[in-house]
Amino acid sequence: MSKGGQSLGNPEARPSQAEAEAAVRTLLRWAGDDPTREGLRDTPARVARSYSELFAGYNVDPVALLERTFEEVGGYDEIVLLRDIRLESYCEHHMVPIIGRAHVAYLPANRVVGISKLARVVDAYAKRLQIQEKLTVQIANTINDVLQPRGVAVVIEAGHQCMSTRGVHKPGVSMVTSRMIGAFRDDPDTRRELLSMITPRAASPFEG
Ligand SMILES: [Zn+2]
Repeated sequence: MSKGGQSLGNPEARPSQAEAEAAVRTLLRWAGDDPTREGLRDTPARVARSYSELFAGYNVDPVALLERTFEEVGGYDEIVLLRDIRLESYCEHHMVPIIGRAHVAYLPANRVVGISKLARVVDAYAKRLQIQEKLTVQIANTINDVLQPRGVAVVIEAGHQCMSTRGVHKPGVSMVTSRMIGAFRDDPDTRRELLSMITPRAASPFEG
């Protein structure tokens, strides 16, 4: 796995906007509708445009996001946790939404990163076709590789629409994945402190 994420393939092989729109018209016909009717006439163009937003992560280098750090931290060496980061991703098996939240923590070693950058790293990997397990690992490994902190923890809780609106039709189910590195993996006290900071909610907000 490259640091920057999944292979982007050969950019020259990327189809044109017109080809993408033609593909959407094919899917509309395949679903049983008529792409020439008024309500669907502009849909292929809209879908192509929305794809560039939903999958904007392919154009972002997550490593570059973390390269600017601050060393004036006044000796702060405790857990830095960004909790409840809204997560919007797409399942790579069914191309339907994965909606949830991510908690990202690290134990700084002499330097910290701007807090919004952690959320941007989440987005950079989330705005791609994903499975939750891989997404969790990619976020944690990138933070670990670039910041080289004493520990990194990423916990993701998310509902998968491929499970709620199709297939087994089980709404309200959330999947939890975690990746613990360094002190969060090796030191039970540090791990316990983190888990107590990520307080569980009474009810699941996920409609999945
Ligand atoms: Zn799926």
